[in-house]
Amino acid sequence: MLIISQQEVVELLPMDECMAVMADALTSLARGDALLPLRTMLHLPRDLGILATMPGYLGDPEALGIKVITVFPGNHDTEFDSHQGVVLLFETGHGSPVAMMDASAVTAIRTAAVSGVATGLLARTGAKDLCILGSGVQARTHLAAMLFARRIDRVRVWSRNAENARIFARDAHERHGIVVEVHGDARNAVEGSDIVCTVTASREPVLFSEWLKPGAHVNAVGASLRTARELDSATMARAKLFVDRRESALNEAGDFLIPRGEGLFGDDHIRAEIGEVLAGTHGGRASETEITVFKSLGLAVEDVAAAQHVHYRALERGLGTTVLLGGRR
Ligand code: NDP
Repeated sequence: MLIISQQEVVELLPMDECMAVMADALTSLARGDALLPLRTMLHLPRDLGILATMPGYLGDPEALGIKVITVFPGNHDTEFDSHQGVVLLFETGHGSPVAMMDASAVTAIRTAAVSGVATGLLARTGAKDLCILGSGVQARTHLAAMLFARRIDRVRVWSRNAENARIFARDAHERHGIVVEVHGDARNAVEGSDIVCTVTASREPVLFSEWLKPGAHVNAVGASLRTARELDSATMARAKLFVDRRESALNEAGDFLIPRGEGLFGDDHIRAEIGEVLAGTHGGRASETEITVFKSLGLAVEDVAAAQHVHYRALERGLGTTVLLGGRR
């Protein structure tokens, strides 16, 4: 088995390559060429966090694996990632495990890559003004993905803790050579933006409909529980809604389920899965003025496809550490 570290995953999974891998994986999913149950979530006592398991299988190219990950929001502002774990990859000839890799990096990169694909499909062609709400791990990878998705010429960031937003802006300048405006008020950061990424661990709305201009595109990424949301009900009711997977949205997305529970819309409010737009079975944006929302929950097939790509590249470049596990007579 090949063990692949966080640093190696980052090196082997550049954002643009990951976006192409995610587009293929989501297209396969839309064609029914994938198997994945809803994730299991073990909610730990004392609000410590969650242990989640996410198994998945993709038919073409064939990939089989599982992500096991803890989400400890209390790790924020410590030296520990809030998402930690491993992705285990198996070959399908004999079912042998072939690779195990850091899941923090896979999660950080694949999630933003999927938002990048969604933005490429749904944002207006001329979208160039970006706002990011949040300044953590996902904020960083989302900035990288948005720079691939559109020609961005203005970036604004807001974060609950203004100092973290300033550090984000400084890092972004070092990494991408761009100036990021730090806003102390979320509304000021959002107003006039073409693309808004919500990447916070907030359980209450951080984005409100009246802040959004016609034609804006939103990637709603941070809330992954039925009881948590980042978008207010009016945004969801007003938006043309796209998801990574219907079944996941109908079971796991507070952003969708809370306003549905208020009677604002039914299940048919979901216009399409991103994979269906990629496969051409559903259209994407229908006008220059409609607001599009991509509600991301994160899927096991994204992890498995990303891990398969990392494994392939690691073998190509001789990276990773091999251990003999056994499993053969
Ligand atoms: P980090 O711990 O790195 O960052 C957390 C961010 O959330 C910080 O910017 C923090 O702001 C902000 N935040 C925390 N609590 C609040 C609050 N009550 N109100 C407003 N902002 C808040 O986490 P990640 O970047 O890794 O993840 C961000 C979110 O995305 C998480 O909720 C995570 O579960 C989710 N996620 C979703 C995925 C998907 O596939 N859809 C995949 C991976 C993560 P500040 O620093 O200013 O306090």
